[in-house]
Amino acid sequence: MLETRIAEELACIRQAGLERSIMDLHFVNPVQARDQAGKTYLVLASNNYLGLTHAREVIESARAAVFKFGTGSSGSRLTTGGTFAAGELEKRLADFKHSESALVFNTGYMTNLGVLYGLLKPGDVVFSDELNHASIIDGCRISRCRVVVYKHNDMKDLRRLLETEKVIGQRFIVTDGVFSMDGDIADLPALAVLKKRFDAYLIVDDAHGVGVIGSDGSGTAAHYDMPGIIDLQVGTLSKALAAEGGYVTGKKIFIDYLINKSRPFIFSTALAPATLAAANAALRLLQTQPQKYLGSLWANTKLMRRLLKDGGLQVVEGTTPIIPVLIGEAELTMRFADKLRGKGILVSGIRPPTVPQGESRLRITVTAAHSEEQLRQAAQIITALWQELRQDEKKEG
Ligand SMILES: *Cc1c(COP(=O)(O)O)cnc(C)c1O
Repeated sequence: MLETRIAEELACIRQAGLERSIMDLHFVNPVQARDQAGKTYLVLASNNYLGLTHAREVIESARAAVFKFGTGSSGSRLTTGGTFAAGELEKRLADFKHSESALVFNTGYMTNLGVLYGLLKPGDVVFSDELNHASIIDGCRISRCRVVVYKHNDMKDLRRLLETEKVIGQRFIVTDGVFSMDGDIADLPALAVLKKRFDAYLIVDDAHGVGVIGSDGSGTAAHYDMPGIIDLQVGTLSKALAAEGGYVTGKKIFIDYLINKSRPFIFSTALAPATLAAANAALRLLQTQPQKYLGSLWANTKLMRRLLKDGGLQVVEGTTPIIPVLIGEAELTMRFADKLRGKGILVSGIRPPTVPQGESRLRITVTAAHSEEQLRQAAQIITALWQELRQDEKKEG
């Protein structure tokens, strides 16, 4: 019986202490959320990097779109679901990413499926970083081309594989721009050299890069001041851009092809006008006042990284607002996260299989919308609790 098989598997997951469950919350502002019992938390775990989910201009754009165009899009972009809001957003995205053209998908996840499944063919070989996001892994899988995984951000390993791997069709290199768990940045200068040397196409997923790195907040290419080096730039509207949906930018011929061939684009109902309007408004704010939003995000990132390190925590070095704090054992990590929740702070506990055994960690993120006071208080609670937990461990051990 299916139920028996599933029950056994769930029991295994539970026994290993790896069961996942959903905690429903609602945000009362960009950085605080309330649970069903009415308890309020400071959130240090969201991807709302610029805090734009509650910006007046963004909310007003979404509201105006609902009143003008209704709540749903009513069809695929290729039938009746096309709206001016989508075209307008795509123009803005293409311009922002210094690309010829852009295409919006329903999620970042679907964008990776749609781009990889759409462009990669059997006979091609895709070289993929071992820490790439699940949606890249799945997109590579369903494309049915050969997938070669290289060690995380290890350009020597990538070069060796590019040299030894026989390829009939095209070579592709695909990587996260900012890695979602470690918060480190892909080595674009080295990737550019390899791309040229081996005639490969480069695809970079900037889900955590846009609104976060680069002087204008446009992501990895801007961070290294290498415009035009990436063939296809994937991104999401769901993180710094305060809405939901995903997009890809690149040469017009790639986008035209995806419109005709990419099944996740063709066979799904288009995003609601309000969602597109919200993303468009958020992007407009970032473009017109980059210093205001990025300046706060970067200052908060620096402050929080320093406070945690000074408090004796093992912070993985880096510059992005994704701050991994190494704890070690999965059980201790989850207990730490649970106790923090008890004290009104939400952080994510990350454990195997997402990270290797013994490398469980808290994943702390900050946004432009946190106040200095909130971060100082939170850091104090986190570091005090860490001292307590370590004392307990020593007593037991
Ligand atoms: C979050 C994320 C996605 C998925 O984006 P959604 O819009 O949430 O589906 C894709 N790639 C990376 C690297 C991500 O971090």
